[in-house]
Amino acid sequence: MYAPPVQRLITELGKLPGIGQRTAQRLAFHILRADAEDANALADAIREVKERIGLCEICFNLADEARCRICQDERRDAGQICVVEEPGDVIPIERTHEYRGRYHVLGGALSPIDGVDPEDLKIAELYARVASGTIREVVLATNPTTTGEATALHIAAALRERTPDVAVTRLASGLPVGADLEYADEVTLGKALAGRRSL
Ligand SMILES: [Zn+2]
Repeated sequence: MYAPPVQRLITELGKLPGIGQRTAQRLAFHILRADAEDANALADAIREVKERIGLCEICFNLADEARCRICQDERRDAGQICVVEEPGDVIPIERTHEYRGRYHVLGGALSPIDGVDPEDLKIAELYARVASGTIREVVLATNPTTTGEATALHIAAALRERTPDVAVTRLASGLPVGADLEYADEVTLGKALAGRRSL
């Protein structure tokens, strides 16, 4: 129906989350109408992010060096680790200004139905960090969803066994159940952090 390059663009845009066929077409035509400069800036931004951004060697947050900015920051409390599912979950927690520790990004949540098992996430790496001896508290800030809760319980049970002296806490309730952390407003999330409870 379209010239092959246009069809290719529509196909690629249609692979993005939340973008259906019609939206993909609309975006493709927007890009076709845009200045070459703007269209190239978009293409370059995508290319650059794939070339330059990797995962932090300690916490698996996004990083443009071996270690992310938070792991490099000596002022951050190295005795606390906040465990989140995705790199995008770090930002809402940072915005609350309630948390001054470090992070650990799992890369998803446990979901046996979808074939996501502990070895598919950075869970063994978390246990190794916690066992290193400097950690006082692990804050489980996985999403308040079925898979997020299951992940928190799984990790809490393992940490109790491996490192019983380390406190394991979970965000207080009050977050909208079933929603992702990244959509929580900062006041609600700040309260959930401040009111975290032992698991
Ligand atoms: Zn890091």
